[in-house]
Amino acid sequence: MYHLECIECHKKYPETKVIYTCTCGGLLDVVYDYSRIHLTKNDLTGPLSVWKYRALLPISREPVSLDEGGTPLYRVDRIAKSVGLKDVYVKHEGMNPTGSFKDRGMTVGVTKALELGMKTVACASTGNTSASLAVYGARAGVPAVVLLPSGKVALGKLAQALMHGAKVLSIRGNFDDALKLVRDLCDREGFYLLNSVNPYRLEGQKTIAFEIADQLGWQAPDRLVLPVGNAGNITAIYKGFKELKNLGLIDSVPMMTGIQAEGASPIVAAIKNNAAAITPDSHPETVATAIRIGNPVNSIKALIAIRESGGTAETVTDDEIIRAQQELAYLEGIGVEPASASSIAGLRKLVELGVIGTDEKVVCVTTGHLLKDSEHVLSVCPKPIEIDATIEAVRAAVFSK
Ligand SMILES: *Cc1c(COP(=O)(O)O)cnc(C)c1O
Ligand SMILES: [Zn+2]
Repeated sequence: MYHLECIECHKKYPETKVIYTCTCGGLLDVVYDYSRIHLTKNDLTGPLSVWKYRALLPISREPVSLDEGGTPLYRVDRIAKSVGLKDVYVKHEGMNPTGSFKDRGMTVGVTKALELGMKTVACASTGNTSASLAVYGARAGVPAVVLLPSGKVALGKLAQALMHGAKVLSIRGNFDDALKLVRDLCDREGFYLLNSVNPYRLEGQKTIAFEIADQLGWQAPDRLVLPVGNAGNITAIYKGFKELKNLGLIDSVPMMTGIQAEGASPIVAAIKNNAAAITPDSHPETVATAIRIGNPVNSIKALIAIRESGGTAETVTDDEIIRAQQELAYLEGIGVEPASASSIAGLRKLVELGVIGTDEKVVCVTTGHLLKDSEHVLSVCPKPIEIDATIEAVRAAVFSK
């Protein structure tokens, strides 16, 4: 029903092979025989979840699952008005079991690890991947090893990785260093690598596209806006929409629009310079730690997704990210971590630049939950007002400016 295929030289590998990149170095894709998949809207009834779309997932065994996916798609009219649009939605991926979209990739990836008979799972992470791998490893009963950039991981994410029993290694280096090390470790020890270079993770994440189309009544929005770090998610969501179009379930594919922080923006630079490949950034820096990545592994796939779909890429500053995070929180009641807010910050900037048209229907993906990074929240919000335990003090404080 499916195989792995190199996006560069088109060499094929059977689905039983444990391999992450082609012998030529190219990224791999999971390719299905779409002529054998007959799927109609009537086959897709019942509650939303990753496994609702099983017919388009490369798994035959019982999944390792915590009921991931099925996240809300909120209409956000106050944000829309504030940026000057009419039709804006937020797909809040922070509502997954561990608080980020990584769970969609891990339910499929960890299930695949069991299918392949792997005994240990591993990843490098800016935080959320490690939290998710620790949780799904625990669910599967398989040990997990995670490599984190020392001192640069939001506390909530670290807490999850620790409590769920992963072996947590803090690397004196950045995410890109940690990824290089874990790839080497997996090759040497036969651990199963669950970073987004693993094409099965992206298969799980493409269900974001399936759910958005499903929630909009089997229609694609005009545009998708999302944060880009390693660029797996933008690639996965694009693949999801393309598959729905191939199967005749939707008529069009949205313009894929990637947002990066100014201090970590190799994909934006490549799009603006019309370059065939990115130039890695050796010192990525941003408050949005989840996208603090200088050498995105999926950059080649992401550049294709952005260009083929007629989308674009843009940078936002840390200040713009924090402002967007606060707006989402107090205008709409949606709590997200900084990286996630870059989608809203990017939306505002692209409307101001006239790149996003005022009649477009736009879905912004908010990738992770507010509580992942409460240290950051406490650093940008006013402190609680401490007062004596008297009604006079309470009243004075309530009505103070
Ligand atoms: C992983 C992550 C991203 C980046 O996704 P990529 O697939 O690496 O581009 C963005 N936001 C959050 C909250 C994440 O956890
Ligand atoms: Zn190849």
